[in-house]
Amino acid sequence: MKNRTTHIVFVASFMMDLTTKLQRLPLRGETVFGDEFKSGAGGKGSNQAVCAKRLGAEVTVIVKIGNDMFGKEAYSNFEKEGFDTDLIFIDEEHPTGVAPIFVEDSGENIIAIVPGANSYLAPQDVAKGEERIRAADILLTNFEIPLETSLYALKTAKEFGLTTILNPAPAPMKAVDSELFTYVDILTPNETEAKGLLGKLDSRMEIEESAHELLGRGVGTVVMTLGEKGAFYMNDEEKGYVPAFRVDTIDATGAGDAFNGALAVSLAEGNGFPESIQFANRVAALSTTRFGTAPAMPFRHEIEQTG
Ligand code: ADP
Repeated sequence: MKNRTTHIVFVASFMMDLTTKLQRLPLRGETVFGDEFKSGAGGKGSNQAVCAKRLGAEVTVIVKIGNDMFGKEAYSNFEKEGFDTDLIFIDEEHPTGVAPIFVEDSGENIIAIVPGANSYLAPQDVAKGEERIRAADILLTNFEIPLETSLYALKTAKEFGLTTILNPAPAPMKAVDSELFTYVDILTPNETEAKGLLGKLDSRMEIEESAHELLGRGVGTVVMTLGEKGAFYMNDEEKGYVPAFRVDTIDATGAGDAFNGALAVSLAEGNGFPESIQFANRVAALSTTRFGTAPAMPFRHEIEQTG
């Protein structure tokens, strides 16, 4: 018998966000003074897992961090959020992933991700979580970990009858092997990632056209996020736009992660696509009203207050 609570497994990434705010981004070779520095938990998979957890789902996180200062902070952060830590792997050789982010006053930013330990999250690590995967409803993964690990996780989840979600972020630099798509029930790219997956990053493809092409590759449903325009979804039976929730945005980093975590929770609770996307839009919008990624994720009661 399957466990019927809403249990979601995240085969995840962790990055420490190292954010510097400055008046303007430095030129090549230039040194400038920054105005403010903040560090905080980040990484797409971990952000999504924190979001789902704060929304009340039972969440398992499979992730790899380093045995260093940031790794220790990451670990205690996971504990603070109430996660079981048995599938948080510590890599003795490679550092915890970091994301140095520079944001200038205009809002323009540059980010250089150094995945470190995330690049060593292996299929064997995912296999150690097999029992948990078997008992879950949904598995969600992304591209901040090795492709072979995402592929293995999706394939395992399908074998156990779970619904699979792939957030294909960051955008792949080249077309992705077609086998991967056949294990994906729900694909959640933003517009750039959709084009990246099709190997058409430079083209001016329309939203519906790229969703249609992705469905043709074997994906069950495409849910494309469109920033402040909301999201578009398409499968063989239905399609539609779901407008964004209006808020006073101060920091949109991590909005896509909030969207993915919330979408998984609502689908696991048995809701359809329009309702689940509306919920995800609401959660993602609320996350943009605060600074940071994981720390900005809203709790369930906060979502209910906005409804
Ligand atoms: P990513 O963060 O991956 O680039 P998007 O920019 O498409 O993804 O944003 C993801 C989701 O976050 C959107 O579908 C929408 O629900 C929400 N969102 C993003 N920006 C805003 C905004 N300015 N106002 C309200 N909602 C937003």
